[in-house]
Amino acid sequence: MTHPAAPAPETALTDAAPEAVAAGAAPAKAPPKSPAQKALEKLGLHRPIDLALHLPLRYEDETRLTPLAGARQGEIVQFEGEVTHSEISIRSRRQLLVTVDDGTGSCVLRFLNFYPSHQKTLSVGAWVRVRGELRGGFLGREMVHPHFRLAGGELPGALTPVYPTSAGLPQTYLRKAVLSGLERADLSETIPAPFLSNGPFLNNGPHSSSGPNLNSGPQGLFSLREALQFLHHPTPDVALATLEDHSHPAWQRLKAEELLAQQLSQLQARRVRAAMRAPALKGQALRGVHCSLQEQLLERLPFRLTAAQKRVGKDIEADLRKNVPMHRLLQGDVGAGKTVVAALAAARCIDAGWQCALMAPTEILAEQHFSKLISWLEPLGITTARLTGSQKPKERREMLALVESGAAGLVIGTHAVIQSKVKFKNLALAIIDEQHRFGVAQRLALRSKMTHESQEPHLLMMTATPIPRTLAMSYYADLDVSTLDELPPGRTPVVTKVVNDARRDEVVARIQAQIAEGRQIYWVCPLIEESESMDLANATQTHEELSAALPGVGVGLLHSRMAAAEKKAVMALFTEGVMGVLVSTTVIEVGVDVPNASLMVIEHAERFGLSQLHQLRGRVGRGAAASACVLLYSTGDAPRLGEVARARLKAMAETNDGFEIARRDLEIRGPGEFLGARQSGAAMLRFADLAQDAPLLAWAREVAPLMLDQYPELAQQHIQRWLGGRAEFLKA
Ligand code: ADP
Ligand code: MG
Repeated sequence: MTHPAAPAPETALTDAAPEAVAAGAAPAKAPPKSPAQKALEKLGLHRPIDLALHLPLRYEDETRLTPLAGARQGEIVQFEGEVTHSEISIRSRRQLLVTVDDGTGSCVLRFLNFYPSHQKTLSVGAWVRVRGELRGGFLGREMVHPHFRLAGGELPGALTPVYPTSAGLPQTYLRKAVLSGLERADLSETIPAPFLSNGPFLNNGPHSSSGPNLNSGPQGLFSLREALQFLHHPTPDVALATLEDHSHPAWQRLKAEELLAQQLSQLQARRVRAAMRAPALKGQALRGVHCSLQEQLLERLPFRLTAAQKRVGKDIEADLRKNVPMHRLLQGDVGAGKTVVAALAAARCIDAGWQCALMAPTEILAEQHFSKLISWLEPLGITTARLTGSQKPKERREMLALVESGAAGLVIGTHAVIQSKVKFKNLALAIIDEQHRFGVAQRLALRSKMTHESQEPHLLMMTATPIPRTLAMSYYADLDVSTLDELPPGRTPVVTKVVNDARRDEVVARIQAQIAEGRQIYWVCPLIEESESMDLANATQTHEELSAALPGVGVGLLHSRMAAAEKKAVMALFTEGVMGVLVSTTVIEVGVDVPNASLMVIEHAERFGLSQLHQLRGRVGRGAAASACVLLYSTGDAPRLGEVARARLKAMAETNDGFEIARRDLEIRGPGEFLGARQSGAAMLRFADLAQDAPLLAWAREVAPLMLDQYPELAQQHIQRWLGGRAEFLKA
């Protein structure tokens, strides 16, 4: 029960943020940090307030003693009694067996690992306090590896907190550190009382008026200090369930604080952006010179825009005309036709005499955009430049020159677009396709390519993985969202079948039937490169198998280890229809567009995430032909699929709607993970749950603008307290 390292608050928990220390405010030679101190910092617990906001996962009740006679099996019980017997048994395995009697009954303590000190404390005649789970063992009541100490001493008045921790950070150390943080942190109220009294948390009932009421909020509401003190050390009479499900008024108070901090920081970012300038992109046609590039492009398109495309186009158009940078997310299901919307925005930008950059996450996708946009825009006299990682130096130099001189109106590429060597003459519009595949830093880098002083480019982000409304409200408050909620006409919905891998032959027969009808097929395999031991059919193997099973049919292979030129060649053969089947790893995941492909087979579908499956399925159903998606699953050695995998495949079979898929994905994974994948670096909500706390979120959204206007200093203080150094990151 003793832990080696006692906290040394002065050094471990300095008031100064680490940056301030680095800036020279620290004493000449800082003492070396203990492993526990380092572990604290790794958890992000730098400032006293960070520690104060580090809340327990659960609690242990050490506030009372239970007579053994009345205790039930399976209960966590604390009692005091006398050691009546102690022996080292070697029956099946060496172990220490100690009998303790509390006057109402006795209990055997069993230790499989023990030190001489255990034996010493637990020697016959000693009075001890024991705490552990009571079991009914062979010898009657017993506890395995219980906590124990000498009896006596006061019982604590509050529940004992158990904190989330990491290796090398013992609970006792963390408890002391948190306690110290709680004492030293500035916990003064930042939320003005009038805002709180309108909050939805009052419905949860006022807290007991018998408690301490220092610095209390309005109408008996928990103040921040009270809420924190309570949550760290709740009185034993609390209904534990309300602490566990975070419905307790003290939790409500904290969640409201957290949500408000997030809303404030996003709103602030929005206002900062609104104060920045961007070129107002007004077309030449407005000046009556000629028919605008946009109009020319529209005339040349082989189809008419859907109503949704027109509406979204207008949103973007209106943004681009303003001298405030656009910050818009265009979400639309796979196949909804985002590319043409992007092309129209690009045409507007180029028409106004500025450059536009389009960044895509993979070379294949960049290549696809390139050929499509070239076919649309070059006939209008627009020069396009392409930048990818695999370019030959000579080609690359030529492209860079086109970009720098401004000769290229449109620049398309992968991450290569944001490299420091790339200099634009006058970038005004940055378009990011499949934005969730890029990190915050990459988006910032693209924006910084604007060369005109104190201006920002307009930013259009596109995604096929829609963000459920509550998430959009919470995480993207600093973002305007346009939605393509309509697919181009003439599409037949994709029929999805979940099929056991044992029936692979039937799938191959189906492929033959499709080929006979002149259709094309994708076959996607997961490739776990890191783990060769994993028993996964890899793309190469499947490729051989299908080639053998489908004589006379062109079967291509595409995987991420191939050279870019090779990939491009294979992709071209498939696009032109020379190849009937394309076996690939997930390199085709995003954006590939071959309308004649009508069957998508996904092998080991149980290993893919839901949005990835949906993206892959979106590769078919792009033409008028009826399309299907086969999700092949294998349970391996297990009798059946795991629950999460089953939920995913079920969702896929039940709906084609990307929004519904996103909603279910959120349900299956929870917001942290859901967003984690798409937005590295975003500060996650630690306490609030968007589904459960919708009323609190609504309150925070309402209060944030008022607070920023009426109490700007408190607002800053609030953001700092909750987000500390992370606020910057949220702006990207
Ligand atoms: P995504 O939104 O997934 O990026 P794309 O822009 O690749 O979708 O469009 C999918 C396919 O639909 C492309 O072949 C595209 O040319 C076509 N398309 C786009 N808009 C329309 C439309 N209004 N009518 C018919 N076909 C369209
Ligand atoms: Mg696309």
